[in-house]
Amino acid sequence: MQAYTHLLTGILIELLCFLFIPMEYFFFAIFLMLTLAFLSHAVLDPLARFTYHPPEAHWNDSFWKYYHVIISMIAFVVMISFVLIEWTLVLGMFMASLFDIMDWGARFLRKYQGFHLEWYDRPFLHDFFCAPLNRLFKPLPNWNEEKKGILPEIALNIAQIIPIIWLIIVFL
Ligand SMILES: [Zn+2]
Repeated sequence: MQAYTHLLTGILIELLCFLFIPMEYFFFAIFLMLTLAFLSHAVLDPLARFTYHPPEAHWNDSFWKYYHVIISMIAFVVMISFVLIEWTLVLGMFMASLFDIMDWGARFLRKYQGFHLEWYDRPFLHDFFCAPLNRLFKPLPNWNEEKKGILPEIALNIAQIIPIIWLIIVFL
């Protein structure tokens, strides 16, 4: 899934854990939030096969270019605005994005010898945690190259944003 979808998922999980688990179970709420936000990536990325998600860059395709400019801007806006609303939401956003931060961060840092990350030569977190659902979804259609694949992701985003806004208006 796109970065901002992971961010919204982390925000929603954090809000649900902290708003609905009583304060006397605060540490359980933290533990549950961190675990669920982290594992949400293992559900969302396999679901990304039903969304527009070309594995390779299509620099000659203006749809691809505009789409990626827009989703990068949305990710930035989501991150900044929710940090301004409640800075602790950074935790949920971070955990929900941790697979990407680790796997793609390592791929980037491997180029620099000083980091000694030569061993991190595969997206280990994605490979390990996404494998079960990837296997389950394998027989189903793959829309990664289909432009209509932006629609399922937008539908999911709407389903995330409505409860997030509602929770924030009612509780924060
Ligand atoms: Zn990912």
